[in-house]
Amino acid sequence: MSETASPARLLDVIEKDILPLTKGGVSGGAKVFGAALLRKSDLSLVIAGTNNETENPLWHGEVHTLKQFYEMPERPETKDLIFLSTHEPCTMCMSAITWAGFDNYYYFYSHEDSRDAFAIPHDLKIMKELYGLEPGGYRRQNAFWKSFYIGDLVAATPDADRASLEEQTARIKREYDRLSGIYQDSKSGNSIPLN
Ligand SMILES: [Zn+2]
Repeated sequence: MSETASPARLLDVIEKDILPLTKGGVSGGAKVFGAALLRKSDLSLVIAGTNNETENPLWHGEVHTLKQFYEMPERPETKDLIFLSTHEPCTMCMSAITWAGFDNYYYFYSHEDSRDAFAIPHDLKIMKELYGLEPGGYRRQNAFWKSFYIGDLVAATPDADRASLEEQTARIKREYDRLSGIYQDSKSGNSIPLN
């Protein structure tokens, strides 16, 4: 595997594998966050998942996907996998990713996006309140893993291929905007502690 995964494949997995699950989750009152695991060797999908906080407030997209991964009868080793998260993981999820043995994660939206575009400020609030960290203050590369912002990978793509990735990025963002609106309109009726 090259140093980083292809943004084209990551965007495809978000659009075709994660978003359909998230559509269902949001219609049941859950948040918009999702995740997927891919093999490093050929970028094939192992499992995709979405937030299920209406069942258990710990079932963030990432942790809920890991729960389902560990329920698979046979599964690859995490060191051989890419962790794809639609949104930059919160402190619980980045710790879960660490404890599960992944050496990477890729994310489509940043913590700042979750706060500003999704009206979900909890990631950054927890970073500040528990650890005294300002936005961007944690170590995105450390002894356990490297994390990658997919927008950076798109920006670094050669001109010939970049336009279609930017178009796909815009299309995915429009769908998240729509789903976020549905979640925000419904959330006063749910019992998620940090909704
Ligand atoms: Zn989380």
